Amino acid sequence: MPRKLILVIEDNEKNMKLVRDLLQYEGYEFLGTDTAEEGLRLAGENLPALILMDIGLPGMSGFEALKHLRAAPATAGIPVIAVTASVMTQDHQKITEAGFDGYQRKPIDIDEFLEAVRSTLEHGGKRSAE
Ligand code: MN
Repeated sequence: MPRKLILVIEDNEKNMKLVRDLLQYEGYEFLGTDTAEEGLRLAGENLPALILMDIGLPGMSGFEALKHLRAAPATAGIPVIAVTASVMTQDHQKITEAGFDGYQRKPIDIDEFLEAVRSTLEHGGKRSAE
């Protein structure tokens, strides 16, 4: 069975390194970029099994990037988990309403984070249940 490819879109270097190390240690194939624009290109070319998306990015935001992913047939069904430092309840709600398949807060809780990755890869995103 091929290793599952996970695309990480994150502009915080420290968090990117932590997530990359964790995913690689767990045996996942890792692909990363610090902009949504490049992330959309990589997603279309590589069709990852899962995307981990920061919300606050230098150009296009994670919200905007999710819309583009959902609008393209090739990437529409890829589960996307939002990863953000925001702790406001209204932002959680906004993330859920935007159609993300899950939400992890930064700094990440390693066990919770890996469990969300495993379970989303196993069960697919929200779309697979529809
Ligand atoms: Mn950011």
